[in-house]
Amino acid sequence: MAARVLDGAAVARQIRDEVAPGVAAFTRRAGRPPGLGIVLVGDDPASEIYVRAKLKSAGDEGLRADLNRLHATASLADLLALVEQLNHSDVHDGILVQSPLPAAMGADAEQRVFDLIHPGKDVDGFHPINVGHLVQNRAALTGCTPAGVIELLERSNVAIAGARAVVIGRSDIVGKPTALLLLHRHATVTICHSRTADLPRVAACADILVAAIGRPGFVTREFVKPGATVVDVGTTQVADRAIVERLFPPGSARREVFERRASLVVGDVHPDVADVAGALSPVPGGVGPLTIAMLLKNTLTAAQQRTRT
Ligand code: NAP
Repeated sequence: MAARVLDGAAVARQIRDEVAPGVAAFTRRAGRPPGLGIVLVGDDPASEIYVRAKLKSAGDEGLRADLNRLHATASLADLLALVEQLNHSDVHDGILVQSPLPAAMGADAEQRVFDLIHPGKDVDGFHPINVGHLVQNRAALTGCTPAGVIELLERSNVAIAGARAVVIGRSDIVGKPTALLLLHRHATVTICHSRTADLPRVAACADILVAAIGRPGFVTREFVKPGATVVDVGTTQVADRAIVERLFPPGSARREVFERRASLVVGDVHPDVADVAGALSPVPGGVGPLTIAMLLKNTLTAAQQRTRT
């Protein structure tokens, strides 16, 4: 039987509809809309697409969103100076620096940038102070993707309390914060990674399985307990025909998209998992739209908090 689809687009719409009155009220009270400063360094094609989507969504919901571009050859000092400028801006309540940064900026560039963003404007929830608040279950600004995963589960009536949850991936950006949010909602949580022994067996204990790896179709049927809820966070742009042919049969809708565009965004979960899982989030249309909705929500929260004092 095919798994129930966890409709991220519909849940994101609900959240955006809830954010809109708050944006209008803030704008009336403050005489300006909540503002988001986005920084994009270089011209990575995927980042261009993500940033365009964030700018459009913010504009659609009445927020101000400005794109600050730096050339791919910009120095880390240039980037830090721009972040500092946004930290002091009166019209920007949130700051988002799009990852990845050019490799030439150095291995610790992202951490240095995240450390510099004012915690009150840290709409990505990456600053160590906000991470500490998350650990203590008192975060106001939580990472958009992890928060989006929780919204998708809760608003789809998936019971978290008491469930066994397995998160595959331990990044600071997705895996760890998602695991913490599940823990705070009383799931019994296991975090897996590239050194986990017998990963399929561990994953198959999960009532809720979250895949945040970045490997197309990695999570196959053997990873999934029958009836489990599976959230696919992975998004990999695939241009390799062999991978697409392994995952999607000829004539399928996804295969046709690939034939038209010569590339395809693919999740971490193999499509066959739909035969075993009880519920499954699709890629695209699952976690992605929620990440954007939570960014808008976090920007409003940051604006409200900044002007409250
Ligand atoms: P990341 O920093 O590269 O982390 C990947 C994690 O997966 C690491 O913890 C790694 O383990 C683990 N991993 C890699 N290969 C594995 C294997 N063979 N078995 C078990 N674990 C393995 O990636 P990320 O930033 O967390 O992102 C994960 C995915 O989510 C990516 O596809 C990304 O594009 C996607 N994403 C989507 C959204 C959205 O809005 N939909 C937002 C953010 C990210 P180790 O720690 O041991 O190396």
